[in-house]
Amino acid sequence: MQQLKMIPKVDRVLEWEGVRKLLAEHPRELLLKAVRSVLEKLRAGALAGGLDDAAFKEQAVSACVERELGQLLMPSLKRVINGSGIVIHTNLGRSILPEAARLALNTIAFSYSNLEFDLEAGERGSRYSHVEALLCELTGAEAAIVVNNNAAAVLLSLTALAAGREAVVSRGELVEIGGSFRIPEVMRLSGVTLREVGTTNRTHPKDYSAAVTDQTALFLKVHCSNFAVLGFTREVSAEEMVALGAAAGVPVLADMGSGNLVDLTGRLPCSEPTVQDFVRAGVDVITFSGDKLLGGPQAGIIVGKKKFIEAMKKHQLLRALRMDKLTLASLEATLGLYRDERVALSEVPTLRMLTATLPELTARARKLAGQLRRRTPEAVSFRLTEGFSQAGGGTLPLLNLPTMLVEVAVSGLSPNDIESRLRGMEIPVIGRISKNAFLLDPRTIQDGDLTDLSAALSALAA
Ligand SMILES: *Cc1c(COP(=O)(O)O)cnc(C)c1O
Repeated sequence: MQQLKMIPKVDRVLEWEGVRKLLAEHPRELLLKAVRSVLEKLRAGALAGGLDDAAFKEQAVSACVERELGQLLMPSLKRVINGSGIVIHTNLGRSILPEAARLALNTIAFSYSNLEFDLEAGERGSRYSHVEALLCELTGAEAAIVVNNNAAAVLLSLTALAAGREAVVSRGELVEIGGSFRIPEVMRLSGVTLREVGTTNRTHPKDYSAAVTDQTALFLKVHCSNFAVLGFTREVSAEEMVALGAAAGVPVLADMGSGNLVDLTGRLPCSEPTVQDFVRAGVDVITFSGDKLLGGPQAGIIVGKKKFIEAMKKHQLLRALRMDKLTLASLEATLGLYRDERVALSEVPTLRMLTATLPELTARARKLAGQLRRRTPEAVSFRLTEGFSQAGGGTLPLLNLPTMLVEVAVSGLSPNDIESRLRGMEIPVIGRISKNAFLLDPRTIQDGDLTDLSAALSALAA
């Protein structure tokens, strides 16, 4: 309590040499904010007790102000090291872009471009034209359009094709994706009336046919991205739905969620249909994300029959959902890699990380542990232990990918201490705790992370 009287006044602090010099380079308002924040912390400290008297003196307070100012100037959005092993980690930005996208972003972001200019005709062009041909080439579809994300793609498709009418959906596919994107809510927002058919575990072809009225606008198929129904189940396949749609005279819309362009069967212990499979099956409109299994920027890709895509291109809603040029540039670069499947598998980080094998990951874990051992103080120790990584992003929920983890221990720190302190670093390191051990998964740690990772781990020992 005595220490409350030792807290300096704001004006006084501003006169101190160490603080005054900051004023030369930073706005006064910002500096004031930093000073007030430091004094506030001193007040809290004084009330709580346990602060040294030196903490209230010029030298200590000036240093705190400088540090606080540094904090205020730091961008809120920052790079983190993903040691969680969750490849498509939605909270950590989902996919990281391939190198090819860096070049495209660098060029397009800092130059004028033909975003909406037809260079051949010398007149206004369409931003949607840049990736349409490539998407058609890769998927076999007649037409394509790209919007802000897959939620927007579903909203636009439903609105353009079924507003004021009904869409038939299986009760087993009334999905809620993370961030409270719920299929029934999106339908309401689109002005589409939901016609639920079947049950949670079983829906039959005849359920769709029986639901058809003169109000039916389409059949909707939604990928159960983030959950699985096991046991006594029956799902109506894309092929069956296309046949039912043709018989009823209504189009089929499929929200594929992840929408991979490479057949991962054999490379991952799962079997996911590809977008090409759905196009081949005759699905009229298909939507999927750009930043899930595709491994590109946030985007919602719509491919399908020309007449439906044309209706979307003309719809007013498109303007509100449109993607920007940086997305377009990085998406085009990412899609380009898919022209050769082998190139996509090695160059698209999401695919590369997902398909990394246990022997590869064991070698990486060994190398990483060795490098970290050499670069960190003795108090930090490393041990290899087997475990599993996850795909994340609400994709492939049952998939457990075998991996080799690096367990980090620091003398005097609990796994929880390690976790929270690494999370608070200037370049935060995100790991996970399992069975009272702090773990880093080399599957999602990038080659360029080593220096910052060892610096963060060394700081733990300090
Ligand atoms: C992820 C997902 C969405 C939402 O996609 P965003 O790109 O995140 O907007 C919609 N539907 C399904 C089935 C999904 O898996």
